[in-house]
Parts: sequence; structure tokens; C-alpha cells
Amino acid sequence: MPYFDANATTPLQPAVREAMDEALDEAWQNPSSPFRAGARVRARLELAREELAERLGVDPPEIVFTSGATESNNAVLRHAAERSPDGWVAVSAVEHPSVLEAARAYFGDRVRRIPVAGDGRVDPDAADAIVAEGPALVCLMAANNETGVLQPWREVAHRCRARGVPIHCDAVQWLGKLPASGLAGCDYVVGSAHKIGGPKGVGFLRVPVSDPGLVVQYGGAQESGHRGGTENYPAVAGFLAAWRTCAGERGDLGDRERMRGDAARLLEETVPGTRLVGSREAVLWNTIMVVPPRFANHRWVSRLDRAGFQASTGSACATGKEGPSHVLGAMGFEPEEARRSIRFSGTHATGIEHWRELAAAYRSVWEALRAEESQNGGSEVIEV
Ligand code: PMP
Repeated sequence: MPYFDANATTPLQPAVREAMDEALDEAWQNPSSPFRAGARVRARLELAREELAERLGVDPPEIVFTSGATESNNAVLRHAAERSPDGWVAVSAVEHPSVLEAARAYFGDRVRRIPVAGDGRVDPDAADAIVAEGPALVCLMAANNETGVLQPWREVAHRCRARGVPIHCDAVQWLGKLPASGLAGCDYVVGSAHKIGGPKGVGFLRVPVSDPGLVVQYGGAQESGHRGGTENYPAVAGFLAAWRTCAGERGDLGDRERMRGDAARLLEETVPGTRLVGSREAVLWNTIMVVPPRFANHRWVSRLDRAGFQASTGSACATGKEGPSHVLGAMGFEPEEARRSIRFSGTHATGIEHWRELAAAYRSVWEALRAEESQNGGSEVIEV
């Protein structure tokens, strides 16, 4: 059965498992150990760092391997607050909670939201007006995890550069799906392996050479002093193997984008009254968020699950939290509409036939929910 919650996490790709198995058997030693086997792991780790740096167009020492994007995002916000104790931070209103909550924790009420339009995108001119006021840091993600909407990070980074304001880009959902070129124009860049077929618990943070004082965690002198702790080389090997096998960067982007357009239209037509969320053009090829005409999203999601389709009500990180998505709220959706939103996010292996199967299931669930409602005398069944 196809899987439609790839923005939450993805299964390990076979090449990743192979690379990790090999590294776990052959390169498990501590890269800081004084004997030759340790030095070999060190050399392999540095090769991986070079490869990742090259993909981003940055210098290898600028890459700090971390436990994932949440850690990386927290480190950037904490460091900005330490550097500017009286400063304020500008964050897009649709950032991931690991940015929004870290901003709130470290900057308190000195956080200013950069608004988005109804299509989910920040307006570069509106962002520039805020940048002109001199924040300590600007946070603008590359692609949104809930809606898939792409942000104009290139333009905003350009303006930040011109005004001497540092910019942080959470590129978790972009990397491996779209070309990384240009991200070097952002001072801090964050990625995570498990969204693209790699293992959980490994990611990176790009720290510019101009900022040697950023410490993710104190300890040994690993990662050029940016992050103490024994490096997890087998996980890093898995991350690189995952990125290498991501087909999204191999020139079939146009086909993927067309498939996304066809799938979106299919879902829209299959259940009349379905509303597509966010920009139709500036959007990840794997993500479609819909607002169906009726029924709370958790009912849809559990019905789809029983039919064999795993989808989500939005961000997995927001699951369990009260209230509708802050992302849809920022886009102007009423809370009642946002409570109906369903996110479908495919992997690199998801084809149009899988989207067709999903659309058929979406239709069946719609019919089942309506039948149930009419049996219930016309009122919506409340499932707890
Ligand atoms: N940022 C974005 C945009 C994400 O989608 C996620 C994962 N939901 C994260 C950060 C957190 O990533 P990790 O699981 O590696 O901590």
C-alpha cells in the first residue's frame, strides 16, 4: 500500500541500509581514537562532510553533524539570543515548531512574525521592510512541512545579505527533493536525514566560517568545537547514501511536478467542494494538502488508515496539541476549515498510480462518512 506521510518520516531506502550495515561493521570505531582504525573512520567522516558541503556549495568545516533538525534549529536560535541579548528575531509565521518554540523560549516577546499571503508564501518586499528594522536573525524555511509551499528564500537571503542581517533557513523538506544550489546564500542551513529515506537521529547545521563561536553542545572538541560528542559515522553514511539516491535532483523534476498537478486535480474533482491549500506552482512535488467539504480531519485520517492509506492531519510534530494548524491560521483559514485539512505527502517512489488509488479511497471515505451521517439523522457523528 502506498504511504502518504513522507513529510513526517520515510522508510529507509535499501541503499541506505546497505551503507549503514557496512559502516556499522567496518567503521564503528571512535573517529578520535589514536589507532589506525579510528583514523580510517575519521577520514570517512571527513569525506562525507566534503560531499555534503559540495552539495550545498559551502566549505566542509562549515558542516556540523547533529542529531537532526530540531537540535540544529534550537542551536541557531539560542546562539542568536546569546549574541544579541537585547535583539529581536523575525520568523516567518509558518515555521516548524522547532523554530517557533525555540524563538519563543530564547527571545520571549522579542519575536516578530513575517506574515504569509493566502497562498502560504512570504512576500519578499514585506519581509524586506522587517529586515530593514535590523533583527538579530531572520528565519525563513525553504519548504513548508504541512502545505509543501516553497518560500522565496533566495530573494529574502539576498536582501538580508544587503542589509547585513543573518538568515537561517530550515531546508528539511527541500533538500533531496529540489536542487540545493543557492542555499549557501543563507548563513545557517538545516537538514535532516529521515525525511529522504535516511535514518532518524541525524542531520546537519551549516555554520558560516565567520561564526566560530556557535556551540550546539559543550563537550569534546568534535565538529571543530561546534558540537561535543562522539560522531555517529554510520548514521552520517546513511544520510549521504539517502541523499545520493534521491531521484528528485536527477532531472526528472518536470515529470514530478506534472504528476503533482495531475494528482491535485484528481483529488479536487473526486470529491467536489475539495479545496487545495496553498500555491499551486510554488509547491513541493510530493505534497498535497486538501480541505474536504465536510467532516473533521481526524475522521478522514482514521478512515483512510483503515483503508490502508497513511496520511496526516498536518504536522506530526503538532499531533496531540490543541487547536488547528498555525500554518493554515497564518494563511487566513478559519479554524473550522483548518480542522478539516488533510496532508498527503508521497515518497520518491510514489507514482501517479498511487495517487489514483488514494483518490479512489478519498472518494470511498467521503461516501462512507456521508452515509453514516444520513443514518444518524443528518448530523455529524462525533468520534472521540
Ligand atoms: N523542520 C521541518 C520543516 C520539519 O518538517 C521537521 C520534521 N517534522 C523538523 C524541522 C524536525 O526535524 P527532526 O525530526 O530531524 O528533528
